[in-house]
Amino acid sequence: MLRRAPFPRPSAAAVDKARRLLDRALGPSKVITSPDGCEAYAGDESDQEPVIPDAVVVAETPDDIRCALAAASEAEVPIVPRGAGSGKSGGAVPVGGGVVVTTLGMRSIKEIDREELVAVVEPGVILGDLHAAVEAEGLFYPPDPNSLRMCALGGNLAENAGGPRAFKYGVTREYVLGLEALLVDGTRLRTGRRTVKGVTGYDVTSLLVGSEGTLAVFTEATLQLIPKPPSVTTLLGLFDTAFTSGRAVSAIIAAGLVPRCLELLDAGALSAVRARGVPVDPRAGALLLIEVDGDPASCEAAMERIGEACVAEGALDVLVAQDAAQRERLWEARRALSPATRAMARYKISEDVVVPRTRLPELLREIDRISEETRVRMLSYGHAGDGNLHVNFLWDDPDAAPRVERGLDRLFRSVIGMRGTLTGEHGIGTSKAEYLPLEQGPELIDLQRRLKAVFDPKGLLNPHKIFPRRGHGVC
Ligand SMILES: Cc1cc2nc3c(=O)[nH]c(=O)nc-3n(C[C@H](O)[C@H](O)[C@H](O)COP(=O)(O)OP(=O)(O)OC[C@H]3O[C@@H](n4cnc5c(N)ncnc54)[C@H](O)[C@@H]3O)c2cc1C
Repeated sequence: MLRRAPFPRPSAAAVDKARRLLDRALGPSKVITSPDGCEAYAGDESDQEPVIPDAVVVAETPDDIRCALAAASEAEVPIVPRGAGSGKSGGAVPVGGGVVVTTLGMRSIKEIDREELVAVVEPGVILGDLHAAVEAEGLFYPPDPNSLRMCALGGNLAENAGGPRAFKYGVTREYVLGLEALLVDGTRLRTGRRTVKGVTGYDVTSLLVGSEGTLAVFTEATLQLIPKPPSVTTLLGLFDTAFTSGRAVSAIIAAGLVPRCLELLDAGALSAVRARGVPVDPRAGALLLIEVDGDPASCEAAMERIGEACVAEGALDVLVAQDAAQRERLWEARRALSPATRAMARYKISEDVVVPRTRLPELLREIDRISEETRVRMLSYGHAGDGNLHVNFLWDDPDAAPRVERGLDRLFRSVIGMRGTLTGEHGIGTSKAEYLPLEQGPELIDLQRRLKAVFDPKGLLNPHKIFPRRGHGVC
């Protein structure tokens, strides 16, 4: 765990006042104040140290959220929206104490309109449940973060979640037509539309998607669906090194092929997969997990061309998943990578950088160099088709932390040097706030701070996220 200076917490008097107001407005069935009860809402899946909130509101309706916002505003304590807590940048961690409002109790899929191809959902709906519900109707909601069995729609909206299928279908923002949200002062906003087209006013929907819980709390989303692709084929390309597999990714893209997923696992990630009992050819030092969808004939043709591109770049073998069960086993192993790599060392940081896709081989080389120079074990996997890699630092000795910090700093600088970006889907949160000035100029950061102040003048909604502490930040 890397140590970060703690953020200031509200005074005991302010906390008492907030608890009294919450108790009066919502009653004990929806308000948790015991440290033991609040502890479950202290952390997420990032390296951010957990912080126990002063109170938790278990919201079941938009009105519950409004009450929580009103109490926090009156008592002037922070308030942090929370979904399933699977975030990887510390977004849901109440680093400044105060109230956490969990929306997991709001799990209704209010509508699936088969004619308009629209779904209306509450923020606590688990993504995997939405997938199952729309697919039962012959429809498809493409965003598929690998946490889909646990993460909630509200968190997906706030992080603009991606996932393996983003290569072909894009990320969450592309599927959000409209939102219902509450501002910190309780104002109810309806943004966007229900129609496929529409350009009325500023695109506030797009601003709120990806705002990491810092501008408003979502209470409902209207989502665009598409028809479910009739068939899917999965292919594995085995390579000797990650570098060669990275070249194959560039070759597939250059050939104009658009698989729906193009995932890369390097040698370290493959060890984690093997350790979970999934047999992978021992010659393989890297793997591409590729999936195409569409009508069966076009799938087959695309698979053939993808296979040829892999072989031309030196693949050791190219295998097609034989049936749905085999396909599911492969994806199970891919989805288990994050917990599997966590089990490989005492400490782990998982980064989420993106480079232009043609520079992926260069990034893979740079990761090897950083690992060698810092003497920190690193492994990478991720959505290679988007140039988006999850670069993991693994270490056991707490004294290695300064070397990890140096490695992180170098990774981020290299990525920006390659005209890449600090995060492809996990968000900035607290984990990367200090690095924001590496990518964005002071004018842009200042404009965003002022925008935040328009939505939240007292700075109570999910404070200390995205922006570096004043007077801090690399550069
Ligand atoms: C094993 C694993 C695999 C993952 N794979 C992927 C992946 O492939 N792609 C990807 O994009 N991410 C991935 N993630 C990260 C994470 O699952 C996503 O960021 C997800 O969208 C977070 O959803 P959540 O409900 O857990 O949100 P939380 O962690 O609870 O919160 C995340 C952010 O959303 C805000 N928030 C939550 N609910 C609301 C609301 N109602 N209104 C306003 N703000 C809100 C919070 O304040 C916080 O800032 C993975 C995580 C794990 C553990």
